[in-house]
Amino acid sequence: MVRLILAGLAVLVLAVAGFVGYRTISFTAPPPAAEAAIPDTSDYAIDANAAAARLGEAIRFRTVSLVAPSDDRAPFTQFHAWLQQTYPAFHAAARREIVGELSLLYTWAGSDPAQPPIVLLAHQDVVPVAAETREAWRLDPFGGDVQDGAVWGRGAIDDKGSLVALLEAAEFLAAQGRQPVRTIIFAFGHDEEIGGEDGAAQMARVLAQRGVRAWFVLDEGMAALDDHPLTGGPAAMIGVSERGFATMRVHAAGQPGHSSMPHRETAVSAVAEAVDRIHAMPIEQRLEGGPALGMMRALAPQLDFTTRMAVANEWLFGPLLRARMADNPPARALLGTTIAPTMINGGVRANVLPAEATAMINFRIHPRDTPDALLAQARARVADLEGVTVEWEGPARAATEMSSTTSSSYALIASLSHQLLPDAPVAPALVLAGTDSRHYDGVAQDVYRYQPLLFTAADLELAHGNNEHISVENFDRMIRFYIGLMQAGAMQ
Ligand SMILES: [Zn+2]
Repeated sequence: MVRLILAGLAVLVLAVAGFVGYRTISFTAPPPAAEAAIPDTSDYAIDANAAAARLGEAIRFRTVSLVAPSDDRAPFTQFHAWLQQTYPAFHAAARREIVGELSLLYTWAGSDPAQPPIVLLAHQDVVPVAAETREAWRLDPFGGDVQDGAVWGRGAIDDKGSLVALLEAAEFLAAQGRQPVRTIIFAFGHDEEIGGEDGAAQMARVLAQRGVRAWFVLDEGMAALDDHPLTGGPAAMIGVSERGFATMRVHAAGQPGHSSMPHRETAVSAVAEAVDRIHAMPIEQRLEGGPALGMMRALAPQLDFTTRMAVANEWLFGPLLRARMADNPPARALLGTTIAPTMINGGVRANVLPAEATAMINFRIHPRDTPDALLAQARARVADLEGVTVEWEGPARAATEMSSTTSSSYALIASLSHQLLPDAPVAPALVLAGTDSRHYDGVAQDVYRYQPLLFTAADLELAHGNNEHISVENFDRMIRFYIGLMQAGAMQ
């Protein structure tokens, strides 16, 4: 009998091992959507150094996001005039509109109005350089110097590099008399760094009112990494969704009085308990239901065998996988919503019972979760805490729609990236920060965030950081990418 059980167990183990092995081996990238027909981008006769010098000029306009009505608009209007002067062929070919006071909306009309347009985004504004960080800059943050093979200054990466590269590409084509068949729309917001409400949101509304339903929208947001944490090698990550953002306000009302004879709970202890419970509330952490599984599949050939076995068999190794990723913040963010208590406030004196206490908890919302469900879950967790209420502070923003990884537009972006960065497999990714493109869900089915910039882990600190700079090599690649995109996507 014992032998029979052992034999049965052995068969079971073999069956599981076989199944795990089969799934591991068959876990590969899905066949790519038909490779897009793209031109050879190395053929373009671009003067990268001259283009880099022009990016330097663009950086000298101090287009820091405007926060007060009295903030100086002149850097923006001067930047607009400079764009008109610097890119004359494009400006002659395209229609320019000013939207929301300072945003630029260009329409380069195609000869075939039946083809849905391409919408290309970038933003004009930059974050300020804090006075206390000025010392840490090697060069003038608004000097736009070209040195050591790079263009230096605020906005070099985020996001004047992209804006200028788009216009370099458009000018390159327009100057040769090339005309699009499919309309190309350029939307350059002026307030991306402070939410995009006056710029991107308004331009998206204008486009929606005109009935524009684009083939796809492309914005900044993701790039290629030279050492992807999963594979240790390069990977080009195309953002297919952007996390949502919401802040939860937890309020506790208490009995005011002297602390010598306290009630069992004070407003402070109640708010602390509520924050603790909400922080610890169970959040689904899975590969499926977001871009994570698609990313793993696309990178499968580069994954080491054990990682591949684990991700191919989440049914078995899910807990192990989650435990491994739990200590890695970017990996955790990929698998599920993250919860970060950020502020707590209450009481005025050490010996006085406060009448109220409040706390703020910041949520970054994964595509599988909704703000409503998260709020309901938080409320249920604290339902028995007397005097505690939980609300979203301001609007709660869900994650954006997930864009397709099998569309013809994804194939176009992926093919161009692959030609320009042949060592970097292309994978879908979740954008962890915020971009203007989240306002464009109503304008196109597919919204992508990608630039073919090859970054090291250290480079990721540059956007908004000290010594922001872009290598001329990266900048040149970006221009070629955009020319190829316009040519293959809109001119044939
Ligand atoms: Zn940006």
